[in-house]
Amino acid sequence: MSTTKKIALHWQILIAIVLATVTGLVFNLYSDAIGIDKSRIVDSMTFVGSLFLNALKMLIVPLVMSSIICGVSGLGQGDHIGRLGGKTIGFYMISSLIAILVGLVVVNTIQPGIIDGAPAGNTLNLSSEAAVAEQLARVEGRSTSDIVDVFIRMIPPNIIKAAGQGQMLGLIVFAILFGFCLTKIKERYRQNLTDMWQGVFEVMMKMTMLVMKFAPIGVFAMVAKTVTMTGLDAFVTLAWFFLTVFIALAIHAFINLAIILKYIAKVNPIKHYKVMMPVMLTAFSTASSSATLPMTLETVEKDAGVSNKTTSFTLPLGATVNMDGTALYECVAAMFIAQAYGLNLDFATQFTIVFIALLTSIGVAGIPAASLVAITVILAAVGLPLEGIGLLLVTDRVLDMMRTSVNVFSDSVCAVVIARSEGEETNLT
Ligand code: ASP
Repeated sequence: MSTTKKIALHWQILIAIVLATVTGLVFNLYSDAIGIDKSRIVDSMTFVGSLFLNALKMLIVPLVMSSIICGVSGLGQGDHIGRLGGKTIGFYMISSLIAILVGLVVVNTIQPGIIDGAPAGNTLNLSSEAAVAEQLARVEGRSTSDIVDVFIRMIPPNIIKAAGQGQMLGLIVFAILFGFCLTKIKERYRQNLTDMWQGVFEVMMKMTMLVMKFAPIGVFAMVAKTVTMTGLDAFVTLAWFFLTVFIALAIHAFINLAIILKYIAKVNPIKHYKVMMPVMLTAFSTASSSATLPMTLETVEKDAGVSNKTTSFTLPLGATVNMDGTALYECVAAMFIAQAYGLNLDFATQFTIVFIALLTSIGVAGIPAASLVAITVILAAVGLPLEGIGLLLVTDRVLDMMRTSVNVFSDSVCAVVIARSEGEETNLT
């Protein structure tokens, strides 16, 4: 029998992140000196990282479908689904609003856009317009910040196309309807179909566990790539902005959500953080709530002990519409741009920013850099200069990694709160 003790997954991922940061910094700073082509390194890291990311993404459609169909058909009655849906959406709106308000208070306190009493716009290096356009083009079309469009996407004309384009909301609505109507058909067919979807779900969970084993390697590649490309300089120029977002996200993730876990869900927050660690680290490395969803589902169900009925509904929905970190970031970013350009925003304008941040965070897709599009919507709505986005590009990836972890963590908190409110015992009380 082997005597070696297996290192827990979250430690493996954490070690991978540390090693990747060191490796990335070495390549960023010394690749010329040691005669290595930086782009080669980035290419090979991209190759390994993409294998992992693709493996996660490959699971999403069948996992979301089977999970929701099993969960909803298990719920049976229509009023059950209505109640669960109402509570879930309510939680998501409130937690996002709290997150935005934290962001607003912190950005008004630290004022990262003002350096030595003067607007920082001139001293900060603005990225070129071309760089801004390139970034936006990457996410535009995939991330919708228009709230009307969110409703349109809920009813996709072609479910296969929606699945192919990663339009999760349409997929979720279809799966909910499928699960609901499944309970209305003849017993013989119902039994067959329920067994089949349950089987698919079990297989998908097993596949997720398999993919999770490769998380440390995938995470290493993705983080090393980011650090190799970005280096440290970016963070020096935007240190205050970075710090503001970091502090606000930390307050929300470690104080607000901990209080909700302790006093509303009545579970032990420390235990919850512990089981969610590998998921948060994966969200951090992938900067995508959608790609992390398979791991979130598997962990909240297996380790936190929330029933499939609850996770199958709350988590896919959360990965699509609930983005506390993103909402907070949008608010801080818009305020930062206003400060950097020396514009004073009155209470009404700040209120508008809060409101649009809340709405657009629902429409933002769970993919990297999706918030940038939403921020352009806010800037346009309150009349701030759109070029301000250029200020954000330098640090966007790393802050994206952080806000995505918070997005995903908040989904898991919602699943636990809903489960407890439905009388479930769960594992972490
Ligand atoms: N990357 C974020 C997510 O997937 C969205 C964003 O804020 O850009 O959750």
